Amino acid sequence: MKKIALPFVFLFILISLSQAQIPDYNIDSMMNLRKLDSLTGSVKTYYSPGNKNRAIDGQALIQKAVNYYIEKYKIPFSVKLAVLDSSQWVHDILPWGFNFFSNGWAIVNAVTDPEMLLSALVSKEKRFGLDSVLRKQNLSQEEFLYKTDMVTIIHELGHHYVMKILKISTAGMWFNEIGANYFAYNFFNKMGLPHYQQMIPAYQFAANSGEPVYKEIITWDTLNIRMPTDNFVWFDAHTQILVQNIYSAIGETFFDNFIKTFSGKDPHELELEYTINEIDRLTNGMVKQWRTKMRKP
Ligand SMILES: [Zn+2]
Repeated sequence: MKKIALPFVFLFILISLSQAQIPDYNIDSMMNLRKLDSLTGSVKTYYSPGNKNRAIDGQALIQKAVNYYIEKYKIPFSVKLAVLDSSQWVHDILPWGFNFFSNGWAIVNAVTDPEMLLSALVSKEKRFGLDSVLRKQNLSQEEFLYKTDMVTIIHELGHHYVMKILKISTAGMWFNEIGANYFAYNFFNKMGLPHYQQMIPAYQFAANSGEPVYKEIITWDTLNIRMPTDNFVWFDAHTQILVQNIYSAIGETFFDNFIKTFSGKDPHELELEYTINEIDRLTNGMVKQWRTKMRKP
């Protein structure tokens, strides 16, 4: 594996070990063992001391998303939030302060030092490119990482909602990512929040500057996190762009139809080519066009 831009893992993959791979840990007892402050509200929130503001932001955003989707699909669900700094990260589940959902809990990283993360992890070559993409958008690194983090939280909530509440999931990567990304993209759009759209130029950069060894979705699905990281990022970036293109063309209707089409199916029925064909049908051919473009040398 060549020198890779690991931070893109944080920025774009959101967390590759999404719902499909994270078992339902007993997070309640893990949080009980930690000394945490808390916020009241319908999204019960816990946070490492000193991180109240970030906890308030995260809570408000998750609450909005939960309310939005309960109102829309009339299926009640609730989640809890923990905003943890590095001394309280759940190292027993994941080595980093990744954002993830498990057993109804959103576990969110409280650390907000982009310089530390970026300089430790981005290759110089990619760093330069990413910096110039952000400059063009007048986004500071802090702002970019903060917004990425907020998008990540809602993306992970999307996995929770689609995979655990609606029970629509496969063993593969691509289909699950489409569902979670659409959930998040739609939410930010409906709320008039620019967070997700501001990520798109960076995804475009990752999609255009990547040198993938693998270009077939099936390899992303089967190799999963054994995929070379930059190649993983390349797939993720392309998928984000597909989601944005679908949204621009048909908006929220796609998500309604996605749920109608795939609800009640067993995971083994949601085989990759079947889901590609179905999503292609729902989007009047956009997936096949997208795939052809990805395959080009
Ligand atoms: Zn995901």
